[in-house]
Amino acid sequence: YQVKKNGKGHYRFYNDKDQLYSKKLMLEKELSQALYRNELMLHYQPQIDALHGRVIGVEALIRWEHATLGMIMPGEFIPIAEETGLMLSIGEWVLREACQQAKQWQDEGHMIKIGINLSAQQFEQESFVGTVARILKQTGVDPVYIDLEITESIAMTHISNVIDKLKALKELGVSISIDDFGTGYSSLAYLENFPVDKLKIAREFTSRIGSSQANHMIISSIINLARSLNMNVIAEGVENHEQASMLQQIRCHEMQGYLFSKPISAEDLGKLLIKPSFAVDFKGAAVVEDS
Ligand code: C2E
Ligand code: MG
Ligand code: MG
Ligand code: MG
Repeated sequence: YQVKKNGKGHYRFYNDKDQLYSKKLMLEKELSQALYRNELMLHYQPQIDALHGRVIGVEALIRWEHATLGMIMPGEFIPIAEETGLMLSIGEWVLREACQQAKQWQDEGHMIKIGINLSAQQFEQESFVGTVARILKQTGVDPVYIDLEITESIAMTHISNVIDKLKALKELGVSISIDDFGTGYSSLAYLENFPVDKLKIAREFTSRIGSSQANHMIISSIINLARSLNMNVIAEGVENHEQASMLQQIRCHEMQGYLFSKPISAEDLGKLLIKPSFAVDFKGAAVVEDS
């Protein structure tokens, strides 16, 4: 953090903004090359069955490993990818890479679900359902284990189109989750008509477990809502045992979070899956140590 010696307040601010702007330009330029330089990769975060503590799925999360800048997280580069139109090719790469990895695990006998995040642009593409169909066919993955994650904002724009598209996707055999549920503007009236399989309770709610009765009520309401609509429910961002045992008590189906494991490489996840028993002891240590 640099302070200009003879600069006035606004002068310094101007400089910082300038620097920010050129960093963004630089990232834009680098990102346009990331795909063919093979700098993108997927990490996978385990999803735990709350009843037995088994790994029943993973969420694929993109990372950008730049040669000199190091690891860049999606929060930093996905907005840039969306602005520049790069998100379409990156999104398609994510789909193919995740399906290939899922196929490999299936061939090894690990029947786990793979959650794949979709961007709004990707989902809105006319050709999106066709793209998914083609990738499923090319990779030979069993679609029963593919779970596409959409946000509430994707779900709630152009609702009738979205419902048709979700139905078409489900006809391919994949399942659909609503990501970060509770943070957007889902209309509960529409939810009933949505061909959705799972609600992912946003980390914002999980992290406030124990802090207020109101928060507790919100989480139990989401779980009850999911149950009455015949949907699955997973809590995101489970970081400690207090949260895990409360979620167990109110019969949340699945959990995901640092308590169990951070997102890890496909190789490390593979090692986790071949452990003779990776059942989680909720009162004991997490299944995977931080690396
Ligand atoms: P998300 O889909 O809600 O993913 C969950 C995020 O929460 C991940 O951040 C994950 O590392 C983080 N997380 C998981 N457990 C915990 C926990 O216990 N505590 C805390 N503090 N954080 C936890 P990440 O990997 O940085 O991804 C951020 C967001 O970027 C994702 O949120 C998703 O919206 C987006 N994203 C990631 N990969 C992709 C992708 O392949 N395609 C698209 N379109 N978006 C992606
Ligand atoms: Mg997600
Ligand atoms: Mg989420
Ligand atoms: Mg998100």
